[in-house]
Amino acid sequence: MAAATPRPIIGISAYPRTGNPPGFAVPCGYVDAVRRAGAIPIALPPGDPDPGHYLDLVDGLILAGGGDIDPETYGGAKHETVYSVCGERDAFELRLVRAALARGDTPMLCICRGMQVLNVALGGDLHVDIPDAIGQTVAHRRPERRSVQHQAKVDTLSRLGAILGASSLVVESWHHQAVRAIGRDLKPVAWAEDGIVEAVEHLTHPWCVAVQWHPELQPNCPIQQRLFSALVVATADEQVTARSA
Ligand code: MN
Repeated sequence: MAAATPRPIIGISAYPRTGNPPGFAVPCGYVDAVRRAGAIPIALPPGDPDPGHYLDLVDGLILAGGGDIDPETYGGAKHETVYSVCGERDAFELRLVRAALARGDTPMLCICRGMQVLNVALGGDLHVDIPDAIGQTVAHRRPERRSVQHQAKVDTLSRLGAILGASSLVVESWHHQAVRAIGRDLKPVAWAEDGIVEAVEHLTHPWCVAVQWHPELQPNCPIQQRLFSALVVATADEQVTARSA
């Protein structure tokens, strides 16, 4: 019997230490979405001083959602709404995303906090609190810290537009911060009706897509699943993965 084609391995950045005894959690939605896309999910716990090691193990990367990035990392002001800051995770993910960008051979999908980490890693900054910064014409989360759905408009000429095959869609939104100054080599490609940037992609990296919403929280939506499928397909694309060879 011929050996089966090995399935790609997708590393998912894990949440901070929590619980007693403490653990590193990865929400099931990411794991399930990666498995549905035909790949093997593995957790990447924060704390490794050289997260570039992980890049030798994985074929693709998901920077997952989570709490807020420490505003100090991007020159943001302190704000009473900032929550679940974890210096260990911030440092790990900022190093991980910079290492992945430098290698250029690891497709990466950055989700919610992950999109904000990508933007900060590239010198951009964040609205520390959307209601405070631009108001509440669109709810991007429900009190107290739950998700909500809103409309997003997508640039149909972008990679994201090609993946989703839609010019607008309903997204599961769960954030109170958003990218403000856009990081180097990133391009906004989706927006909420209040102008908040809901997705960016990298102009020169072969496959780096970031969404502010949570595709893993719409497991029954075939359009959202395309993001995970496209990430897994990109891991087998020689145009993408030959960069560092
Ligand atoms: Mn939103």
